Amino acid sequence: MTEPRILVIEDEPDLRAGLQHNLELEGFGVDTAADGKQGLRKAMQDKPTLIVLDLMLPQLPGLEVLKQLRAAGHATPVIILSAKGQDRDKVQGLEIGADDYLTKPFTLSELNARIRAVLRRTTVRRPELASTEGAPVLKFENLVVDFRRFTVARDGEEHQLSRYEAEILRMLIDRRGEVVSRQDLLRKVWGYVHLPTTRTVDNHIARLRKKLERDIDHPVHVVTVHGLGYCFESRPLEETPT
Ligand code: CA
Repeated sequence: MTEPRILVIEDEPDLRAGLQHNLELEGFGVDTAADGKQGLRKAMQDKPTLIVLDLMLPQLPGLEVLKQLRAAGHATPVIILSAKGQDRDKVQGLEIGADDYLTKPFTLSELNARIRAVLRRTTVRRPELASTEGAPVLKFENLVVDFRRFTVARDGEEHQLSRYEAEILRMLIDRRGEVVSRQDLLRKVWGYVHLPTTRTVDNHIARLRKKLERDIDHPVHVVTVHGLGYCFESRPLEETPT
């Protein structure tokens, strides 16, 4: 397993260097960016495991970095660094898909704890960080969905699910047999208040289908209901009694 790689987007040189040094000591691979534009480019190209994102940045503000990253379909976990008095930005950051935030000044051990916690509950993780308790394993005709490990095995071939893919799938399965609208998925999975494009949902559904479906042109599990949304149609083989 490769070590988690963290991208630190922070314009303040001392803080940036300090964070890099500390996170490397913690065993993470670390890359840095000094402004929002460079940060967004690295975030998209290098696909880090997690991003530590300052809000007040030159070139492109932190919230804009996050917005563009999510709009492009990247589910990379993001921890926001906000200054005191930026509460509104912080809330907006969480609404547009940040995973957690820290208010400056913070201690390095606080940051480390947040990073570990976010990595524990998100997708790409080291095996020793992998246990999330309580999530079931569901079996369908040719599928095994494991929400603890965020994996799906189709005809025995295992695929890793991204966090968003797993959450979409969980919502569709929870409402099995019902039509779930794109707006519902956006609201519940992404938590958007001001809805951006529903294409984000379609892109994630397309990726999810590549993992779930034998024939992506003729899906049998996640079915499109034209003009309305998506529906999970398969019946589980074993269900925990309710
Ligand atoms: Ca700053």
